[in-house]
Amino acid sequence: MHSSKYTDLALQKCINPECGREFSCARTLFKCPACGDLLDIWYNWDKIPVPDKLNEFAKRWANRNNPLDLSGVWRFRELLNFCQDRYKVTIGEGQTILQQNDTVAEYVDMQPGRLYLQYEGLNPSGSFKDNGMAAAFSHAMMVGAKSCACASTGNTSASVALYAHSCGLKCTVFIGSGRIAFGKLSQGMDYGAQTIQIRGDFDDCMRQVQAVCTKLGLYLLNSLNPFRLEGQKTIMYRIIEGLGWQAPDWIVVPGGNLGNSSAFGKAFYELKELGLIGQIPRLAIINAAGADTLNHLVNSKKLSWNGGRVNQTIIDQYYADLTARSFSPHTCASAIEIARPVNLKKCLRAIDVCNGVVRAVTDEEICDAKAIVGRYGLGCEPASAATIAGLKHLRAEGVIEADERVACVLTGHPLKDPNVTVDYHKQKQGQFSNPPVEAPNDLDEIIKLIE
Ligand SMILES: *Cc1c(COP(=O)(O)O)cnc(C)c1O
Ligand SMILES: [Zn+2]
Repeated sequence: MHSSKYTDLALQKCINPECGREFSCARTLFKCPACGDLLDIWYNWDKIPVPDKLNEFAKRWANRNNPLDLSGVWRFRELLNFCQDRYKVTIGEGQTILQQNDTVAEYVDMQPGRLYLQYEGLNPSGSFKDNGMAAAFSHAMMVGAKSCACASTGNTSASVALYAHSCGLKCTVFIGSGRIAFGKLSQGMDYGAQTIQIRGDFDDCMRQVQAVCTKLGLYLLNSLNPFRLEGQKTIMYRIIEGLGWQAPDWIVVPGGNLGNSSAFGKAFYELKELGLIGQIPRLAIINAAGADTLNHLVNSKKLSWNGGRVNQTIIDQYYADLTARSFSPHTCASAIEIARPVNLKKCLRAIDVCNGVVRAVTDEEICDAKAIVGRYGLGCEPASAATIAGLKHLRAEGVIEADERVACVLTGHPLKDPNVTVDYHKQKQGQFSNPPVEAPNDLDEIIKLIE
């Protein structure tokens, strides 16, 4: 009875148009059992009471003692209607700020009043991942999961660990032996997750966690999980909300495993289909130069969605080449240090839907941009600042105009990765380094330094 109700409103569907098989949301799958491609959540919109206008969601602000109305994810529940309210999980995620920032606008050569920073560091675990976890853990509760796992460059493990203990699920997180920011590692341990550090990089962890989840029946919380991406759509709804229910001209987002960019493309596609927005914003996805698979495949190899018939040979050849070279990605933006992004195909679809562009930026550009966001905004972690560095490129190229309305997604909190920040300032690495000044223990000398 209940399960038939879910399948009625939402189902899981293979993104490969040559397969397109459909599965009930009562199942825990993560990949199409028939062809191995990614899965999407599809809705029976005719049966879902979606408001006629987006601004009707604003009414829920008046009812913030209902946890589902307070949640920046579930406030938009009709747009991710895959489970009943009694399974829905929230710990107050999505209380984020869309900050108009004219000083950062000046840094990237944009006109005042046109640049907005969507600060996702305000989430309970300090990154946007919590939006996805609220949705994915709701699905986990709905299917009766008892234990869960994820591979992580850091923020996923922090978020999973927090939601797992809130829901009473046993939790194991896999991290690589390479770089993991200390803020993130500390959270997973503090929130009580079992942490397994694998000798290998993120891509190795990702492979192992999928095998482990299949073997032991653990609930997988990486962005392969299509329910997670449903939660991440709400970041776009909140940007639109922050702009008085109007869509911006551009969204700029860092690209790691490409879950966010995929979710944003789906969000805008659905809003357009539902007649809730006029025009779909363009999407700019920013890689780090040391982990630039998407940038390379899209700009050099001209890989595209191609109506769902993605040229897999190009991808396979590129990955074989990475393997032959024993390539490991390398960037100070550890959250996007990923060479084999699991959501690549969905991201290509998002680029198609949003007329998207891809760029790569150096670590130096990332660190300078991060310092600017720190000095004039609310601060962010390195991966988040790739958006500002990428926007600067796109302005210089004239791809984005100075008077277009742009929203950059600042994905994580500045305290996630204090080492990068301290190194930048102390070692005077960049244009905006602000190192501590040494002083003798003497009042006159100290006063001289301040005057
Ligand atoms: C996970 C993460 C990213 C990468 O997002 P994807 O959806 O994997 O592309 C970027 N920034 C931060 C802070 C993250 O935690
Ligand atoms: Zn399939």
